[in-house]
Amino acid sequence: MSPRELVVLGTASQVPTRRRNHNGYLLRWDGEGLLFDPGEGTQRQLTLAGVSATDITRICLTHFHGDHCLGVPGVVQRLSLDRVARPVHAHYPASGTDHFRALRHACAFHDVLDLREEPVDRDGPIAVGAFGTLSARALDHRVQTFGYRLVEPDGRSIRPDLLDRHGLSGPIVGRLQRDGEVVVDGRTVRLADVSEPRRGQRFAFIMDTRLCDAVFALADGADLLVIESTFLSEDQALAAEYRHLTAAQAGRVAAECGVRTLVLTHFSQRYDDPVRFHAEAAAVFSGDVVVAEDLMRVPVPKRRG
Ligand SMILES: [Zn+2]
Repeated sequence: MSPRELVVLGTASQVPTRRRNHNGYLLRWDGEGLLFDPGEGTQRQLTLAGVSATDITRICLTHFHGDHCLGVPGVVQRLSLDRVARPVHAHYPASGTDHFRALRHACAFHDVLDLREEPVDRDGPIAVGAFGTLSARALDHRVQTFGYRLVEPDGRSIRPDLLDRHGLSGPIVGRLQRDGEVVVDGRTVRLADVSEPRRGQRFAFIMDTRLCDAVFALADGADLLVIESTFLSEDQALAAEYRHLTAAQAGRVAAECGVRTLVLTHFSQRYDDPVRFHAEAAAVFSGDVVVAEDLMRVPVPKRRG
């Protein structure tokens, strides 16, 4: 199974800088490649990050400000150029459907892409599959904005010592996993007898918003949380005015929600020292804090033993 990881494509907010491209994040999750908020320049960032267009299975937009969607034309045309054969699903706030259509058909190209538009108009699940459940929840920004959350169902992990104790090995183990129980020498062995509960992994993606209940609901128990921290606390009045978060608020969310790895991103071009974002979040959150840089890869943390 391929690793579950976040590939950071861009980390700037409104204006890209010499070191930071507009937003862009690819989450590799088993066979899925979820491309979140492709800002301007995402197509080239994908190349620099070594991500193939064929890796992309979904495009998820939080909202229609340019730093979160101006990359759609290039990405869509690249997917078509590379003849990506499988359907690609596009999730975006329904109120921006006209914007999406304009981006998707921004200019002339030979369009062979099977792009399935699935606008989001309410809180709740938007896709369910082997990867788990992808759901959306409305945030609080200046235009309609949704955050996303991916939850793998809880399952069970087989314990080799318990298999030994029940004398099970070989193909019968596969049958036990499939059927939930098997009969061996007249004894019934259930899956629960040889396994332990395994908590499903959780990922959350929260972009432009002020602090609201939805932020906490999306981040709840996330193994990996990607969250905007446009401002530092010294500019919290600006954050409130423009409905953005500070690094301290992002840290507080991570602490209250039991997050494991916190990825800060979407930085205002006014700051040049990323260490300060780390310090603010780490002052209130004791888990891993990552100040995102372009082309960085962040693994979904390993399951707890
Ligand atoms: Zn933004």
